[in-house]
This record gives sequence, structure tokens and C-alpha cells, in this order.
Amino acid sequence: QTGLMWFRRDLRAQDNAALYHALKSCGQVFCIFVFDRDILRGLPKADRRVEFIRESLLDLDGQLRHLAEQNNIADGGLIVQHAAAGDAIPQLAGQLSVNAVFTNHDYEPQALARDAKVQARLEAQGMAFHTFKDQVIFERSEVLTLAGKPYSVFTPYKNAWLRKADDFYLSPYPVEKYAAALAARPATHRLAVPTLASLGFEKTNLKSLKIPTGSAGGAQLFADFLARMKDYHETRNFPAVKGPSYLGVHLRFGTVSIRKLARAALEHSVQGSEGAAVWLSELVWRDFYAQILSNFPHAATESFKPGYDLIAWEKGPHAQALFEAWSEGRTGYPLVDAAMMQLNQTGYMHNRLRMVVASFLCKDLGLDWRWGERYFAEKLNDFDLSSNNGGWQWASSSGCDAQPYFRIFNPVSQSEKFDADGKFIRRYLPVLAGLPARALHSPWLATPVELAAAGVALGQNYPMPIVQHDEARALTLQRYAVVKKT
Ligand code: FAD
Repeated sequence: QTGLMWFRRDLRAQDNAALYHALKSCGQVFCIFVFDRDILRGLPKADRRVEFIRESLLDLDGQLRHLAEQNNIADGGLIVQHAAAGDAIPQLAGQLSVNAVFTNHDYEPQALARDAKVQARLEAQGMAFHTFKDQVIFERSEVLTLAGKPYSVFTPYKNAWLRKADDFYLSPYPVEKYAAALAARPATHRLAVPTLASLGFEKTNLKSLKIPTGSAGGAQLFADFLARMKDYHETRNFPAVKGPSYLGVHLRFGTVSIRKLARAALEHSVQGSEGAAVWLSELVWRDFYAQILSNFPHAATESFKPGYDLIAWEKGPHAQALFEAWSEGRTGYPLVDAAMMQLNQTGYMHNRLRMVVASFLCKDLGLDWRWGERYFAEKLNDFDLSSNNGGWQWASSSGCDAQPYFRIFNPVSQSEKFDADGKFIRRYLPVLAGLPARALHSPWLATPVELAAAGVALGQNYPMPIVQHDEARALTLQRYAVVKKT
């Protein structure tokens, strides 16, 4: 039997479900990654994620070759193509005369449509298409209520998740054991991983941001976080503190195994680590939102709670101007602006700030959450359809188990609470750096002497607030009143 392993968002050779099954069941296995033209077409020309993938493929190629060499197989590396994946996979499967293609599940609607097409073409060629769960611990219908329904409230879902998560679900797939089945690349496919330029992309600041790539990078970040995991519950809300793991982008592209992370968090949590228990909850949120989108696909474009689509969001040129100010970090609220600078400059935004800026967009500016969701989708290195959608619908209150609509973050008190001495704001808004901490959260309340001493000229080098929070809050409660009637 000959197999073809198709890598997508699982760019690692260790503990990879589909790779393990391919190697175990086939005498020889070729490995491929396709830079999918259909996906790349919609991306900005400088996109950190494309560069992250490319760097991670170099690492994956190295891992596969290493495994092959250990088994005396020369050139057991990765075949990389730049094509429409829906066509390229059946074509390559035909050229290599494989019996089956192996891959890991991708739950996003476009990916499901592509995979259905690939499966039909392969079957027409007399080839099988085998797919596996790899990206989550529990998918779609593995954690259900006693009535056999999907959960739409997090805490009971988490309790059921924790009851079910045992060694069977968390053990690694020992790929190394069957690595002798890796096939040497055919001479016709011995091409180097394409350069960014040949893919039509430009270099980004990924390297200068020191975001480590590939599974080596994922392992390095995880080792660093393990030493801090015990403090996570205390540090995770403060954007100026190195509290979170920064593993989001690695989970997105599968350069770390979710089983490895969940196993470690569970072990430490069982031993009494509060930090580990809270971090494990975050990993469970990821599974929770993934199953929500699988079970309630309408949420990808509509409010999870239908009544929320009756809300009349701001429209027209005024709304557009507010949106631009938000996306460019020019709202006049320093914590919001610094957070947007972080996103624009690095592709990362701290979770507390994602909640603050998302609430600000919907509940201070009165803009449709989908505008913000789309902006995050373009900018976040760790963009994931289900978690992003879940986060935005949580903030706008339209989601399952969301923030109640009348709970509206005050951007100034959030700033005072979570960036009290202004360290984060000063880093991303150097123009305000000279203000004393008290004035930094609401510069319009600073005295003329303080402003002059710091070189801040409101309305010139830093904006006045584009909305008054109290007025915006009252308007939002009116706007959301329509929801109460449904
Ligand atoms: P850590 O705090 O170290 O958490 C570890 C991992 O747990 C994360 O990498 C992530 O995979 C998962 N996780 C943590 N919090 C959540 C959560 N609330 N929901 C789902 N999974 C979670 N996360 C994404 O992975 N992709 C997104 O596109 C995304 N968009 C978001 C949009 C909004 C409006 C909000 C409020 C949250 C969003 N999140 C998203 C969730 C969360 O903010 C990020 O996962 C987290 O900030 C990533 O940083 P980290 O890896 O350092 O996280």
C-alpha cells in the first residue's frame, strides 16, 4: 500500500494523528503540503502567517528527513506545491499511484467543502480519503449533554470535558515507531520549499519580533511557559506582564500538539496547580468554540442568538470613520489604541485587550461585531475562525454563554485596573509616555501643565476621545433594547 500524507494545519512530524495512521497502515508514505492559491489569494501581500507557515515547513521538512535518515531512507522530505489544493491533491495522488490520501480534520466551512471535492475526485480515481481528529481533544459530537445535544453553556461543557479526558484521548501518537514507511521523494518532486517572493508575498517583521516558528519554536515557547504556568491565574490579565503562553499561533498551525499541552496542564492541575487549572480551562474554551461552530454553523455569519441580528448598528460614512479610527488606534482611549497598535505591529493581542477592544467596537462605537471579526481575521497570527467568532460574539453578547448585553466595559477603568502604571500603554503609545500614570488612562483629564510637560497636544499628536463613554453606554442600552423584546 502507498499513502500520501497531506499536511494542512498540523505542521509537525511528532504526535500527528493522520501521519501516524498513514505510516502504520502503508508500506510507503509520501508527504505533501500545498500553498493553496484559493486561500493565499485573499490575504494581504505582507502576511506574517504565510511567512510563519513557510518557516515551519522548513522545520517540518527537516524533521521528516531526520526520521527517514534514522531508517536509512535518503531524501524522505516534504513535497511542497503552490497550487489549488483541491486539484493538486488528486493529481499528485494519481502521479504517485497511491492507494489512499491521509489528512487531519479541518472544520472550517471552506475547508469542509474543499475536502468533500477532494474526496469525490479521489474516489472516482479508485483511491481512499482517510481523515482523523488531531486539532482538538474532542470534536463535534464527542462531548454532549445527557439528552445527546451539544452544549451551549461553557461550565457544564467543561465539566463533561474534564470527566472524559483520559489517557485514551490525551496520549501521543508515536509516529517514530513507523517512520520506516516514509518514502523517498521522487526525483521529479525534489524542489525546495518555495520562497515568499515566488508565492507572491513580501517579507514581514516576523523575524524581528522573534516569534519562534516550527515545532522547534513551539517546543521552546512551551518550555518557557511551563515554568510560568503555576502563576497563570494571577498574571494572565495584565498585558504588560509575560503571563500567557503565546502558543496561539502554534496551535493554529499545529506546530504544537494540543494533546501534549492538555496532558501537561491536566497533570499539573491534578497536582494542585491553580495556574494550570485555569490555563487548561482556556484550552477547553478552544474545543468549546470549535464544537459550537461545527454544531451551529449559522454562527459563522449570523448571531448565535438570532434576536441579536435585529440590532441596528451604525452605518454610512460616520460609521466607516469610527471603524477606521478604531482599527488605526486613534480612538482617544489609550488602552484601546495601544491594544490596536500591538495588533497592527505584531499580529498578537493580549486576551484581556481583545475583550476590551471588541466591547469598545460594539458597545462604545455601535458597530457590527462582524466588522471587528473581519479585521482580526486579517491581522491575528493566531486567527482561528471558531475562537475568533466565539470571542466576538461573546463581546457583542450575541453568542452562546456570552457577556450579558447590559455589561459594558468601561475602557478607562479597564485601563486603570489592568495596566495601572501604564507600562503597556507607554510601550505602544510612546507619544503619551511622559504623562504620569494617573493621567495616562484618560489624557483629556490631565492638567495643562501635565500635558505640556509630557509634550502631549490633544487633538494634534494624540486624539480627543471619538465618543463619550457614558453617552455611548446609554445609546447602546437603547440599541440593545430590541433584543429584550425577542
Ligand atoms: P494563552 O492564554 O496562553 O491560552 C492558551 C491557548 O488557549 C490559546 O493559545 C488558545 O488556543 C486557547 N484560548 C485561550 N483563551 C481562549 C478563548 N477565550 N477562546 C478560545 N480559545 C482560547 N483565540 C485564537 O486562538 N484565535 C482567534 O482568532 C481569537 N480571536 C479572539 C477574538 C476575541 C474578540 C477574543 C475576546 C478572544 C479571541 N481569542 C482567539 C481567544 C484568546 O484571546 C487567544 O486565544 C489568546 O489571547 C492567545 O494568546 P496565548 O496563546 O498567549 O493564550
